[in-house]
Formats: sequence, C-alpha cells, structure tokens
Amino acid sequence: MRVIEGLEEAAGLCDRWRAAGLGVGLVPTMGALHEGHASLLRRARAECDRVAASIFVNPTQFGPGEDLAAYPRTRDADVALCEGAGVDLAFFARAEEVYPEGFQTWVTVEHIARPLCGASRPVHFRGVATVVTQLLAIVRPHRAYFGAKDYQQSRVVARLARDLHLGVEIRVCDAVREPDGLAMSSRNRHLSLPERAVAPRIYRALVAARDLVLTGEARVGRVLERLHEVLEPGPELRIDYAEVRDAEDLRELPGGRIARGAGVLIAVAAFVGNTRLIDNVVIPPDPRA
Ligand code: AMP
Repeated sequence: MRVIEGLEEAAGLCDRWRAAGLGVGLVPTMGALHEGHASLLRRARAECDRVAASIFVNPTQFGPGEDLAAYPRTRDADVALCEGAGVDLAFFARAEEVYPEGFQTWVTVEHIARPLCGASRPVHFRGVATVVTQLLAIVRPHRAYFGAKDYQQSRVVARLARDLHLGVEIRVCDAVREPDGLAMSSRNRHLSLPERAVAPRIYRALVAARDLVLTGEARVGRVLERLHEVLEPGPELRIDYAEVRDAEDLRELPGGRIARGAGVLIAVAAFVGNTRLIDNVVIPPDPRA
C-alpha cells in the first residue's frame, strides 16, 4: 500500500493506473476509520483493480462552532485499517493544498442539499460537494463508494456526479451497525458510557416508524408520533430533526401522506450530550403498488 500526502503525487499514481487499463475505485473518508468505512473499502476491493482511500477532515464542511477541532484523528490506526482492507493508496490530503491561498470555487447542489442536514448545517453540503468534486478530479476513479448511513450526502454526491458529467459511478453501501443497532460513526467515540446507552434509541425509533409504515400507516404525522414515542427526547437526547421525506428527491410528501408504494426516507439527527448523531431508514419504492 502506498501512503501519499501530496495531491500531484496521488493524481500521478492514479493516472498511471488508468493508463494501464486498471479500474480505479475511490472511498472518500474523514478518517477515524471503523467497520462502516471498512465495508466500503472491502466492496471497492472486490469490484475494482485498484482502491484509493482518501483521508481528509474537510474543514469547509464544518460550520462555526461545530466539532472540527474535536473531530477524531487516528492516522496510524487508519493506515493499518486500510492495509487490512487491501487498499492500494491511502491518500492523506493536506488542507493547504486542497484550499490554497486564493481558493474561490465552490460546488453548490441545490434542492436536495437544502432540507435535513442542509437546514441544520448551512455550509455543510457546499463543503462536501466541493471536496468530493476535487477528490474525484484528482483520482478520476471509475467508481466511488459512499455509505447509506449518510443518506442525504449520498444523494447529493450522486446528483453532482450526474449534473457535472463526471463519468464516475456512485455506489452506495448499507449502513454498518453495532449489535444494538447504533450506526457506526467516527463520532461515537465521543459518547460517554451513559450517552452510549441512550444512543441506540435513534435506530430503535427509526425501525418502529418504518414498521408502522410497512403495516400501512400513510399519515406522516402518525409516523412521526411513533418515532418520537420511541426516541423519548429529553435532556439526554435532543432532536435536531426527525422527518419523513421522499427517498428519491428528499421533498416533503404532498398532503403529509405516504403514497402507496412510494420510496420513503425516515431520517433523524439528534444530540446525545454534545455529540450530534444521524441515522435513517429507507423504504424502497414498491413497483407493484
Ligand atoms: P466519514 O468518514 O464519516 O466522512 O464517512 C466516510 C464514508 O463512510 C461516507 O460515505 C459515509 O457514509 C461512510 N460511512 C460512515 N459510517 C458508516 C457506516 N456506519 N456504515 C456504512 N458507511 C458508513
């Protein structure tokens, strides 16, 4: 495995791979790697000739007062995890190179980036879309891998790749969870023991809401009530948002009703202590309905 920091050096290696006719996969990450990331890396390993993992805590996707400084950085363990997953290139980009003096070009995805995390974190998706576009331009992979745990992010990235004709296939992998259902996240390591005990309520509530929809409940209001019942918001778990939306374009559902067979996203962001956690479930569209 090569470990590279410089953009030009990483781009050069990936150029050589492509010139040799090899299929290149990219897994963009912010490091503090865990089994969720490993599942993306393994899938890329199985589907591509060469796998690049980028590890970059992207400052522009954090708003003022968010957890940029506290974001976990575990470089040596990340290198080891990449090595174990069969990665060919671990690419640690440097902020001074990604955003050099005079930088002034941003990628803004519109409607799909506005609700949910886009509403709570106004600069977030502009930062994500911009850095992902840069990483895709540097590595120029045939495929790039994202996790469904960050569902809105995966939709934003798929949209920008299509809109900008980037010629990369975006593949979305299922969320990997702890045995009690908590979605794995680099931020989970910030949870105290009592907070860790509260956090699985998020997924339990999502499953309860999904089950209600699957038994035929079409009223979004009722589904949200069920979600809140199981979430039991209080000082130890504060809801940022809890919403039911169209799974395809993330729009609100007309009339607050779930149409028969519609693809539906149920998404939650909540603060457990000071740690903001997000999770979701998706009910895929039923073409028979
Ligand atoms: P991050 O390092 O948090 O920016 O995540 C990098 C990539 O890993 C993103 O595409 C995430 O959606 C994905 N990812 C993070 N956590 C998980 C998880 N628990 N299961 C699957 N994918 C994940």
